[in-house]
Amino acid sequence: MPAELIDGKVIAAGVRAEVAGEVATLKASGIVPKLAVVLVGDDPASAVYVAAKGRACVEVGMAESTIRLPATTSQGELMQLLDSLNADSTVHGILVQSPFPSQIDCSAVIRRIDPAKDVDGFHPVNVGKLMAGERDGFVPCTPAGIQELLRASNVATRGLDCVIVGRSNIVGKPMAALMVQDGPVANCTVTVCHRYTRDLAVHTRRADILITAVGRPGLITADMVKPGAAVLDVGITRIPDPTRKSGTRLVGDVDFDAVREVAGLITPVPGGVGPMTIAMLLRNTVRAAQRLATA
Ligand code: NAP
Repeated sequence: MPAELIDGKVIAAGVRAEVAGEVATLKASGIVPKLAVVLVGDDPASAVYVAAKGRACVEVGMAESTIRLPATTSQGELMQLLDSLNADSTVHGILVQSPFPSQIDCSAVIRRIDPAKDVDGFHPVNVGKLMAGERDGFVPCTPAGIQELLRASNVATRGLDCVIVGRSNIVGKPMAALMVQDGPVANCTVTVCHRYTRDLAVHTRRADILITAVGRPGLITADMVKPGAAVLDVGITRIPDPTRKSGTRLVGDVDFDAVREVAGLITPVPGGVGPMTIAMLLRNTVRAAQRLATA
């Protein structure tokens, strides 16, 4: 029997509806949650992501402001902008869209954002809180969204082997930190694989939960998957497809059609993990507004 699909669009819509309710409650007490998005340069993909984030804010009743800076912006100018956003009490969440132009020091930018407004969860204070299992920080949106997919799909994670392929700071590492915690939708035995992992299949075949965040189509084939496993595919790669009007389509890291015959649960690409990322950004922003209101 083919694996059951985890429908990220439906689960993300549920999160958005819940956030919209929380926004309405905050607004009734005079607080309008606001996300400030900073875009440096004119990377076309970043412009699309930023526009989608802005629209999503408006849809749940939040305020948003997108600040577009030229590719020639200096480190000092960007830092000054972040200082003013940190000091602006009407702004609850701040996000600087990556990638950055080469003159910008990415880690200095992340460190300059007030951790209380760091809704991407990349500031070392929030990274540390996640590692320590403290729940008053912000968890990066994509791993938080994957945990939400597992929760919504009623996966009883306790004691399971969770194998994560990819160790980036935005997906793989925080994902591992989440799943290893002692708490709900966690308590897994976690393995993290990367470029130097000796035999990837040995690890993936053990996985009750397989999460792949690499960006390499076809990396995960059916023989690498344990029968009945939950497979969550973060990868997004645009490949040529002459059958499509656009001439291209998006695919994940997983050989979807073949793996679906082996797995128990699987996310499609698109429509799986992707929609959750923005939904969790909205949730983080409303949390920031709630916390700043009671601080
Ligand atoms: P990244 O920073 O490029 O990290 C990729 C990771 O994959 C690295 O840790 C790399 O190992 C590992 N890797 C590369 N080849 C491998 C192999 N053959 N075997 C095992 N591991 C291998 O990428 P990222 O930012 O995490 O993103 C990963 C993918 O997810 C991309 O396709 C991206 O577009 C997508 N993504 C989607 C969302 C969403 O919302 N759906 C969000 C974020 C990212 P090393 O560390 O050793 O180089």
